[in-house]
Amino acid sequence: MTKKERFAYVLHYFETHTPNAETELIYDNPYQLLVAVILSAQCTDKRVNLTTPAIFAQYPDVYALSNATFDDLFPLIRSISYPNNKTKHLIGMAQMVVADFNGEIPATVAELVKLPGVGRKTANVITSVVHQQPNMAVDTHVFRVSARIGLTTNAKTPLQTELQLLKYIPKEKVHVAHHWLILHGRYTCVARTPKCGECGIRPACKYYGQLIKAQ
Ligand code: SF4
Repeated sequence: MTKKERFAYVLHYFETHTPNAETELIYDNPYQLLVAVILSAQCTDKRVNLTTPAIFAQYPDVYALSNATFDDLFPLIRSISYPNNKTKHLIGMAQMVVADFNGEIPATVAELVKLPGVGRKTANVITSVVHQQPNMAVDTHVFRVSARIGLTTNAKTPLQTELQLLKYIPKEKVHVAHHWLILHGRYTCVARTPKCGECGIRPACKYYGQLIKAQ
């Protein structure tokens, strides 16, 4: 199977089975999504969703958050990984959005990555989820699943994975393909023991093909 055929099979499978995949983070607007995505680094979406309602109640917009003190915000984030850094990042992010972007969450990757706590992955998530821009956020699931299936070859970094995926995924499908790969990695192609027996991608999966050959 060529790379092109593999991509075609996988995209068709997801389009047929989970056409409307979306983020599992709970949010109402770009401000809330940005807060949630910053908090989600090295943390599960489930835990983030348990934490954000109290934050959004106390800091309903970026202006309120920009006036928060470390001691006010920290207790709300304490149960999440890296609470010290994330508290500083959230306040710093809000202050910069107010000072440099008129209180509007930026809509481009180049602007977003200037904000504290926002790297390329987070910026790609915000621009693809909020604005459906063709940006591929590569987290641990996307990185692993893409390599296993054979969508990427010898990708050593998230950026290499991102660039290889963008070469083959049609632009209009990139923003949803990100969720397809994440959710597949979270629930089926899990890290330790992928659930190949219940996976519809088997016929196009490089890892599964090698598994069968070795038997
Ligand atoms: S067949 Fe197995 S390794 Fe391949 S994508 Fe499915 S779960 Fe992952």
